[in-house]
Amino acid sequence: MNRRQLLLNLCSIAGCAGIAGLLLNQTQSSAPSRQSATGASARFDPLEARKKLQLLESKGFHPREAMYWEKAPGGLIRCTLCPKFCSLRPFERGNCRVRVSLENRLATLVYGRPCSVAIDPIEKKPVFHFLPGSTAFSFATAGCLLACRYCQNWQISQANPEDLDSEDLPPEAAISAAARSGCRSIAYTYTEPTIFYEYMLDTARLAREAGLGNIVISCGYINPEPLAQLTPFLDVMKVDLKGFTQRFYRTVCGGTLDPVLKTLEGLSHTKVLIDVVTLVLPTLNDDMATMEKMFRWLHEKLGPDISLFLSRFHPTFQLRNLPPTPEETVAKLREKAMQIGLRYVYVGNSTGHEGENTYCPNCHKVVIGRVGYQLTENHIVKGVCEFCKTAIPGVWE
Ligand code: SF4
Repeated sequence: MNRRQLLLNLCSIAGCAGIAGLLLNQTQSSAPSRQSATGASARFDPLEARKKLQLLESKGFHPREAMYWEKAPGGLIRCTLCPKFCSLRPFERGNCRVRVSLENRLATLVYGRPCSVAIDPIEKKPVFHFLPGSTAFSFATAGCLLACRYCQNWQISQANPEDLDSEDLPPEAAISAAARSGCRSIAYTYTEPTIFYEYMLDTARLAREAGLGNIVISCGYINPEPLAQLTPFLDVMKVDLKGFTQRFYRTVCGGTLDPVLKTLEGLSHTKVLIDVVTLVLPTLNDDMATMEKMFRWLHEKLGPDISLFLSRFHPTFQLRNLPPTPEETVAKLREKAMQIGLRYVYVGNSTGHEGENTYCPNCHKVVIGRVGYQLTENHIVKGVCEFCKTAIPGVWE
């Protein structure tokens, strides 16, 4: 048995026993526990849940009715926003920590209450085919519906909203702040934006009216109906395709692969620019044969013109035992993806690598040069390569 098989087997056993963090050298002993996939934790304590809600309200959060839910037998409320389909008892929160069954309805706890707000270069998202060199007004609320063991934002994604500082930023205020700061787009990012769906949707509508772009950076875990309601307002959706096996999703991310593929296929029927990002984890998802399958699937289902980012992992959260991804691994994977026919394949977390640049697929010259988040050259004029006039997909000015 090689190291990969051993780790995956340990993850699989540990996931069932609830001790995966220990086996994976979990150094963050304070990592919070999660509810079950149905949201119906055996340890659920309604009194404790009510106290937490009171604490939340005392900190200025105002629960408001959520979209996408239904009543279920036994007095349960079933959330239909994401493929977790949590069924919740009164005062119980879903896996995402921010949607709660309240007074026979589902409520969102984080509308207009982001815990992280920043102005980022769009290259930091990373988004390379939409308004290069511009800035994006970026925000997130607490919580996430997955529990990736390598999450780089685990301090906010794996936290309850009442445990973090947050600010009052209703959609109108977010749009004004973005415009005042000279941002050309809003990015829903850092944690999983699906969990603050209502806040994102209202902000996206206003942003579109104000002439700002909308960029969603998501794990793709959203049901088709809410996705369809959101996409008319989106310019770019960047989806984390975290691996290409059910086992990887189950043991490392606390989810399943199929809903993510369904989201990507759904997006392929819209005008939204699709970016796909895969964080390459040594021994866990870097197997060439599996990645080749993934590249072929992307090429067949989404076409050659998507942007694919293959990013290097740096040890964090519960996977501090893994080494950083070697540069050669992402370089080889990139080469394979391009051989298969994907035209815009980038490397991430590898400053100075040639895979940060955009190349014209016809004349192969650099049309946009980048080092880290900085543009070094731009030869796309009116959407075409300045050298050979080939159209490059994207929104460039
Ligand atoms: S959005 Fe939250 S509450 Fe709704 S199904 Fe997903 S994890 Fe559960």
